[in-house]
Amino acid sequence: MDNYDIVVVGGGIHGAGVAQAAAAHGYTVLLLEQRSPAAGTSSRSSKLIHGGLRYLESAAFNLVRESLRERELLLRLAPDLVKRQRFFIPVYPDTSRRPWLIRAGLSMYALLAGMGRNVRFQSVPKAQWDELDGLRTARLQAVFQYWDAQTDDARLTRAVIRSAESLGAQCVWPATFEAGDLQGGDGCRVAYRYRDRDHECTAQAVVNAAGPWAVSVLQRFSPPVPAPTVENIQGAHLELRGGVERGCYYMEVPEDKRAVFLIPWHNDTALLGTTEHHYQGDPSDVVPLAEEVEYLLKVYRYYFPQRRADVLAAWAGLRVLPVTRGAAFKRSRETRLEVDDHTHPRVLSILGGKLTGYRATAEKVMKRLRKTLSSRAPVADTRELPLHADD
Ligand SMILES: Cc1cc2nc3c(=O)[nH]c(=O)nc-3n(C[C@H](O)[C@H](O)[C@H](O)COP(=O)(O)OP(=O)(O)OC[C@H]3O[C@@H](n4cnc5c(N)ncnc54)[C@H](O)[C@@H]3O)c2cc1C
Repeated sequence: MDNYDIVVVGGGIHGAGVAQAAAAHGYTVLLLEQRSPAAGTSSRSSKLIHGGLRYLESAAFNLVRESLRERELLLRLAPDLVKRQRFFIPVYPDTSRRPWLIRAGLSMYALLAGMGRNVRFQSVPKAQWDELDGLRTARLQAVFQYWDAQTDDARLTRAVIRSAESLGAQCVWPATFEAGDLQGGDGCRVAYRYRDRDHECTAQAVVNAAGPWAVSVLQRFSPPVPAPTVENIQGAHLELRGGVERGCYYMEVPEDKRAVFLIPWHNDTALLGTTEHHYQGDPSDVVPLAEEVEYLLKVYRYYFPQRRADVLAAWAGLRVLPVTRGAAFKRSRETRLEVDDHTHPRVLSILGGKLTGYRATAEKVMKRLRKTLSSRAPVADTRELPLHADD
């Protein structure tokens, strides 16, 4: 039977990041992905590599600072996968966030990003409003422009997996984690199905990076590992015909004050998202609801009345959020790391979080598992590993 230091369950961005970090720290790693890399949430995000301007409203300064740091790192390590992008925030009389508040938020955002030349924001002069991709100018009071970044989430995930493999990680798919036995000895005996055959291996630790499937993975351990109180909240995106030239648009939804983005995408198309809806079914079956499509198109028509709304495709992804009262929009986007045992963790689950922060999360995972894992000599530093696109 094969022995690994770490078995990672899930080939989304978090599993990929952990496989890369673990291999860089010198550990032997097996990553199991039940379908194909980025088949889950990591191909259904808004594809923004960002600090999260709106998280400043909930005073999540550490999250924003860390994400901005990771954004700058990814711009350097993955220049063909992560591009700096202009973002526009239009303000109308009924926009709840007034210009002074937006200016204050953008100042704080630039401050947390280090105040460099590339993080400055500005007010777009009125003379240029007609050049903003058909944005409604009637009753427009102000437009702010700031900088963040954009990626292709699935390609980024695949690039991180290739980086992990180049350091010796074994990443396999379609390979489904079936069971983990924690009863004998120090580590975990893992049963998985790979290419229609049953396999077994041992690991000192299992990292559960199964995203919206994380709770069902925990139920497959014996003895069972208690599941954290989280729920899956779906978010839909539409792909629309017709590109946007100038950058991303940050639109406040008039009814509920949430943020919806219009984002430039491949082949002269644009992405419109996202929504928030409780989801209780099998994560593999999530699809956009008719009311989500209607909600997004209503916002789009409000801000871009001249543009056509030809929907080419629609999909939904699942956020894993803590169960608390109130709107999902306002809940914490911090990544949670849950362990089966605080002194000697053998099962560590990654819950929630952001695409942007995957590398920092993976390094935190390594830190939490240090006491469990045998000591190994590091072979690389994830802050220095370039990431390359696959096409
Ligand atoms: C609508 C939406 C928009 C978002 N926008 C952004 C954004 O713009 N920027 C940003 O930074 N973040 C964004 N996020 C957050 C980000 O997308 C997620 O945090 C991230 O993709 C989660 O990755 P993951 O690896 O944890 O999960 P996933 O990508 O879901 O990966 C889990 C993987 O585990 C596999 N798996 C499950 N069970 C098993 C098993 N038993 N055996 C083997 N494999 C298994 C699945 O097939 C899947 O591939 C967004 C999220 C949503 C839902």
